Amino acid sequence: MPSQEVSKKLPTPERFAALSRVGVALLSELNEERLLHLIAEAACEITGATFAAFTLRPVSETGQPLVPAEGSFFYLAAIVGVTKEQETFFRHISLGGEGLLAPIFRHGVSVRVDDVHTHLDPGNYKQAKKQERATAQDLASAYAQGKISASQLHSMGVPQGHPIMRSFLGAPLLDRERQVRGGLLLGHALAGQFTAEDELLLVALASQAAVALENGRLYRTAQIQAQELQVIFDSSADGITLVDSTGQIVRENRSAQYLHQRLQQEADGANALEQLLFAPARLSLQAQAEQQYSVSLQQGGETHDYLVTASPLRPPPETSPLLLGTQTTPQNISGAVVAYHEVTEIRRLLSIQRKQAETEGRVAQLQLILDELPSSVYLVRGPDAHLVLANRATVGIWGAQWQPGQALQDFLERQHIRIFAPDGNPLSFESLATTRAVRQGETVYHHQQVIRHPDGSNLPVLVNAVALDLRSLDITVPSGSLRTSDQPSWAALVVHQDVSALKEAEQLKDDFIGIAAHELRTPLAVLKGFAQTLIVQTARQQGPELADWQMEALVSIDQATIRLVELTDDLLDISRLQAGRLTLHPSYFDLASLTQRVLTRFQMTTERHHLMLQTDAEYFVVHADQVRMEQVLSNLLSNAIKYSPNGGPIQLRLVSDNDNTILSIQDNGIGIPQEQQVYIFGRFARAENARMHGIKGTGLGLYLCRELIEQQSGRIWFESVEGQGTTFYLSLPSIVESTDDEL
Ligand code: ATP
Ligand code: MG
Repeated sequence: MPSQEVSKKLPTPERFAALSRVGVALLSELNEERLLHLIAEAACEITGATFAAFTLRPVSETGQPLVPAEGSFFYLAAIVGVTKEQETFFRHISLGGEGLLAPIFRHGVSVRVDDVHTHLDPGNYKQAKKQERATAQDLASAYAQGKISASQLHSMGVPQGHPIMRSFLGAPLLDRERQVRGGLLLGHALAGQFTAEDELLLVALASQAAVALENGRLYRTAQIQAQELQVIFDSSADGITLVDSTGQIVRENRSAQYLHQRLQQEADGANALEQLLFAPARLSLQAQAEQQYSVSLQQGGETHDYLVTASPLRPPPETSPLLLGTQTTPQNISGAVVAYHEVTEIRRLLSIQRKQAETEGRVAQLQLILDELPSSVYLVRGPDAHLVLANRATVGIWGAQWQPGQALQDFLERQHIRIFAPDGNPLSFESLATTRAVRQGETVYHHQQVIRHPDGSNLPVLVNAVALDLRSLDITVPSGSLRTSDQPSWAALVVHQDVSALKEAEQLKDDFIGIAAHELRTPLAVLKGFAQTLIVQTARQQGPELADWQMEALVSIDQATIRLVELTDDLLDISRLQAGRLTLHPSYFDLASLTQRVLTRFQMTTERHHLMLQTDAEYFVVHADQVRMEQVLSNLLSNAIKYSPNGGPIQLRLVSDNDNTILSIQDNGIGIPQEQQVYIFGRFARAENARMHGIKGTGLGLYLCRELIEQQSGRIWFESVEGQGTTFYLSLPSIVESTDDEL
């Protein structure tokens, strides 16, 4: 309990000493609670008050008041010189108040009352009416303006439980903007204890306290901000380096440190650091303005791109009166911040995007051109021939829309499209030109097909399928890159030509050839018969002897007739083939002995050529039409002889594996010029060099050979170099051993 009898007021000099002592302490104390206690204690000590209370107005983090100055929202922040119970009491009463406290809190002025009791209106406190409260407020305002004296202030009464208080002294805590932040309130049990000097001292103490509180708050805010900045600084993925005004590194964040260390280990690291850090720092210090650069560095064999920003650091302007006249000028730059942001990945993505856009543009352009072509052109890829792109004419060819990405077989089945050979037999999916190109990488020219549309109409087409090795291509199309793996994988560019008009003309020609050949047969047979009879009978001296020239003429007539018969036979075969009327009579036979027979026959017609057969087995059993096979062999052998006008060896080889029996016929003749090779299996097709050498022929042999071989599930192809020679290959399916019993 504070003593009620003795005033403990210090003598004046000590009081000022105490005031300045507390002032120094205030400057160094940053803990708010301890600070407030210190002030309250100092106030008691200096004024000799029995108790001192500190009330504060709640403020935000940034120091903005959260409640109005009037009202009862202030809280008790510290109290000294009271009992525990009294302290509890103070914590529960409202401290904004009217009466004695109102001038302090509302108007920010100090209040000194000599004897509270003379103002007391006992019992009135509880019944205070609104009217009286308003009067009290008016009085507080009048006091603040100096219109009335403290003795005229009406107290609303000192509530029960309040420590005994006769003398009262209160001063507001004002911030820089002179807003009320709280109050420092002193009391004494005896009357007339506080002097005008006390009031002055208290006001001084209160304003020191206000500054100390503000400083504490500023210091805390600065600390929080510094901490936040540190975290941002360290967690940034961009490198940030601080340099001083001479360009020396002062601080760097983790990313910058990492890059710095990495560059130092590289051969050209010093140069890289110069480009990335020191040069931008220097330039921004010189220019005293923010600078931005793009820097490309070679690191570990790769190019890394950085966007570097260098900004000069300016200290905040000085406002101290001590520094008056030394105006802050831009020369006072204290250093620079250099930030490097790696943009390699972004650049790469951008360039990919650009390339993609370019490719898409090119594909669109290609599409435009393709769409104008009268023939159907499409690109497929993978063994299932998924559509990549197709031109407009493709719809016309199929009679249906083929969707990009859709596999050929799926498309055909869904749309009920069927494909036939010219002879009317259905073509298996495997034998389609497109399938052969994407599965075997085979380039197929002039493949004749008939497409039966969903509506049942037929369209004869000529198909060229060019196989493209995806490994050597790098085409990017809207549906993704065509390049899939390093395994051989094929794409095919397929052109379908509508040949219905051609077919019609051809049909007419075929009909004509058929009729002509047929009609020629009878007179030819007569001619042949009589020529033979004449020769044979003359030889048997059955008639008058003929002169030599007559005999020669007869032999010529006979040979020409034989040639004519052969030709009409060929023509008839062709017309039968076209009409699908050529019937084959397959049987099992040994291809080796057939070949040997034909070889022997041809060897008798020439002395300049040397025909040889080489085999790696005794028998080569095949299942085919023996007569037709002889026709094929004859044509191939006659070609080999005919197109080797200088003679020489003609090598035949027969080999067989589990799948195929392959016969090759190699000559060292004139060869077939590269650019004419693709046409050579066509009807009436002859190479330029054959004509130049004056070698006669009609160009029907190879056409017939291919038709006959393919109808027997075989294949025929060749390799040729002009001026060096030609090798024709012929393959037929091998007969596996289990079928031997059928022989
Ligand atoms: P024919 O209908 O009487 O056989 P042809 O021999 O000219 O006449 P094909 O057998 O179809 O017709 O041959 C077509 C063309 O292919 C020939 O005209 C020739 O230009 C070329 N040719 C065929 N075989 C050979 C070969 N072994 N060497 C060089 N050129 C050849
Ligand atoms: Mg021929």
